[in-house]
Parts: sequence; C-alpha cells; structure tokens
Amino acid sequence: MSDRYLSLVNSPAGRAVASRLGLPRPVVLRRHQPGVGLLPGPALLAGPALLPGPALLAGSGTADVLKAMGVDVRDADDGDTRWAALLYDATAVAAIGELARLRDFLRAPLRRLSPCGRVVVIGRPPDGVDPAVDAARQALEGVVRSLGKELRDGATANLVVVDGDASPESALRFLLSGRSAYVDGQGIRIGPGGAPEDPAKPLQGKVAVVTGAARGIGAAIAGVLARDGARVVVADLPASGERLANVANSIGASALQLDVTKADAPATLLGHLGERHGGVDIVIHNAGITRDKLLANMRPEQWDAVLAVNLESQLRINAALLGSTVLHDGARVVCLASTSGIAGNRGQTNYAASKAGVIGMVRSYAPAFAKRGGTINAIAPGFIDTEMTQAMPLAAREVARRLNSLQQAGLPVDVAETAGWLASPGAGGVNGQVIRVCGQSLIGA
Ligand code: NAD
Repeated sequence: MSDRYLSLVNSPAGRAVASRLGLPRPVVLRRHQPGVGLLPGPALLAGPALLPGPALLAGSGTADVLKAMGVDVRDADDGDTRWAALLYDATAVAAIGELARLRDFLRAPLRRLSPCGRVVVIGRPPDGVDPAVDAARQALEGVVRSLGKELRDGATANLVVVDGDASPESALRFLLSGRSAYVDGQGIRIGPGGAPEDPAKPLQGKVAVVTGAARGIGAAIAGVLARDGARVVVADLPASGERLANVANSIGASALQLDVTKADAPATLLGHLGERHGGVDIVIHNAGITRDKLLANMRPEQWDAVLAVNLESQLRINAALLGSTVLHDGARVVCLASTSGIAGNRGQTNYAASKAGVIGMVRSYAPAFAKRGGTINAIAPGFIDTEMTQAMPLAAREVARRLNSLQQAGLPVDVAETAGWLASPGAGGVNGQVIRVCGQSLIGA
C-alpha cells in the first residue's frame, strides 16, 4: 500500500521531472514522533484588539499558553524568518472590515511558511445576535478553507471556533503538532469542558476498546491509544482472530473476538469490559465494511450488511453503554464516519447512508453523553491507504489519492491520532462534532 508516486517525486530526479511536467509534488508529511517538539520552528502570533476573558488566547495569555507547550512564539515578522506556524486570534473580529487585518497579517509571512507549516485562526461561533457580526465570524471559515487549498508542501490551515470562555489549548496543541498531519481546511468548535493532561501520556489509566482492530485504521487507533497510555481491548470478527491476536501482542492489548452485528454483541462487549477491566473510558466504533454497487444493481443483502455493521451496531452498543455503569463518567466515544457520508459517492448509497447516519447519531447523542461528563464525536476520513481502499480499481484509487489539498492519501495513523486526541482529557470541550481527516479532499469537501 505504499504510495510509489510520493516516493518518486521525493527523490531528486523525480522532483525535477515532476516540476518540469507540472505534476503534483506531494511532500512526506510531518507526523507526530514521541519526544519531538510540537513545532520544528518559530510561530508568529497576532490578533486584533482582544475581548476580555481569562481563558481566551488573548495577548500575552495566548503567547503564554503556546510557550508552555514549548513553542517559540514571536509577535512580529522580521521579514526574514521561516515560520513553522502562523496563528491569528480573530476572537474579537466583529465586522467585515476587520477581516482585512487577517489578510494583512498573513500575506507576507505566508511566503515564508515552512513545509508542513500550520496556519491556525481562532474565532468565535456565529451566535445569531447580530447578522453583521455573524457574517464576519463565518467569513473566517471561508478564508481558512480557501487558504488550505492555496498552501503547498504539506502545510495546512484550520480554524478553532471557541465558545464562551472555553479553552482552545488542547485543539491548538493538536493542530500545531504532527498528529494533525492530514487534517486540513477544518473548523473545530470547542465548548466548555476539557481537563489537564500529561501531553506525553494523555490516556494514562484509561481503558479503551476499538472495534474492527485486526487491521487498517482500527489497528492503528489501537496502537496510538496504547502509546498514549491506555489499556486497550482490540475487538474484531472471529474470522480475523489470528490477525487480531498479532495486533494485541504487538501493542500489549487484550483481544476480544466479537461480531458487532450479533444481537448479543452489546451484552458481550459490556460484560467483557465490566468483568475483565472494571469498565471503559474510551470506545472507538471503527468496524466497517463496503459493498459498493450502483443503487439500481444493489442487492438487499448488500444494503443491509453495510447498514448493520457501520451504523446499527454503533447505535445498539451506544444505547447499551449509556444505560450502564460499565461506561465510566467522562467517557469518550469516537465513531468512524466517512467523507462519503458528507458528500455522497457514486456506487455507495448504502455506505454513505450508514456514514451520514453515524453523523446524525453522534449529533443526537451528544447531550446524553455530555450529561455523564463525556463526549461523542465522529471522524470522517477521506482517502486512507488501507486494505479497504486497496480493493478500489487502480485508476479510481490513484485519482482519489491526489484529489485533496495535500495531494496524497492519508495513513491509518492520521485517523488514529485524531481519535487519540478526541479521546484525550483535553478534548473534553469537543462534542457532537465531525472532524474530517481527509487532507481537505475535493471529493466530500
Ligand atoms: P478495513 O476493511 O481495513 O478494516 C475493517 C475491520 O473491521 C476489519 O478488520 C474487519 O474484520 C472488521 N469488521 C468488519 N465487520 C465487522 C463486524 N461485523 N464485527 C467486527 N469487526 C468487523 O477498513 P479500514 O479502511 O481500516 O476502515 C476502518 C473504518 O474507517 C471503517 O469504518 C471505514 O468505513 C472507515 N473509513 C475508511 C476509509 C478509508 O479510506 N480506508 C475512509 C473513510 C472511512
């Protein structure tokens, strides 16, 4: 599943040829490595006159929060520095005219943004009070989404939308780091909640379960959760038992053979988690299948199987979890959706129905999980290199790989890092949301 084109254009000869022919030149993305600093260079921070409020990343407060993360923060562009990140606090933006200050801030230093650099804008949600204010706040999303499409060399642009006096600290840490390598052109809303954490082991002491973990994205999620300190249970079909055992052994997890569609799957899962692990803090609904066919040719069993694995199993397990003390208070649930569920995809009415359904389920369940101090969110991956996408016809696969702002497929670890962040104590203010891990895919954008 290696991306031969990516390797080729990152060789000296290949780079020269691609450049001459005007072909896409994706770079190898900066990804998280434990023990390596958040950013490989300095960050430039600016913003207009700032709203009062202790938790806002305002003025010296912003800089202090970033410095505490080990970021070399500067407040002025000397016209020479190559920036690893450009941050703009737009929480005070209240009029269209003020957007020009964001433009003026970004214009010159953008030319010196490092490969795999980060642009992060911090804004406020439209609140329905003043149309002119809401227009200016919403306009930030347009700037960031477009900028994501303009940036090159693996750089990304994202928006953090902060409610009230919620703290964007955890979201900033995620977005600046290599954990968010394939998250681009997104707006992430932060509400109240979120607890301090040890950035090196944010999931220490937590029990996590990942379904569909015998391979692909599920195996990668299990690995990241274990790396971040969780005790992990990996679950998959009995038919995948050997692979599941290998994954479990490689990361020190325990394995549970479970078909999530079986009527007794919720009881089996909760029984196992309660009896063997004393409950659960993190649930990752990752098991998923495709049975692609044009609707006109789709057999009922192809439709039913996809809905059963991808959506109905999640609904039934979540209902059981919420009604049980096996789910610890403050728990995190992460559900795998897909950009297909946002934009639709030819041949995937069943799959897109299931994944759009996941998004509806997450939004609907968010208040119920919040009542128990927890969160439930969806991740919508774009094109990720796994055995699932390996089954696509070659031409469609190669096109899908390039049709995003980063001009490459994501890796399972990119989805896994986002799941790890959503599962972390710091992300407690993110609830009922869909985070796309798609390199700002043009399909499903
Ligand atoms: P994959 O096919 O490589 O792995 C899926 C795993 O789920 C397998 O190990 C399989 O055995 C397991 N599984 C299937 N049915 C199950 C059941 N009934 N009970 C328990 N386990 C079951 O897929 P992947 O590419 O790693 O995808 C993981 C998730 O991410 C899926 O939900 C998928 O829809 C979603 N997703 C993937 C992509 C992508 O590009 N790969 C894009 C968007 C969304």
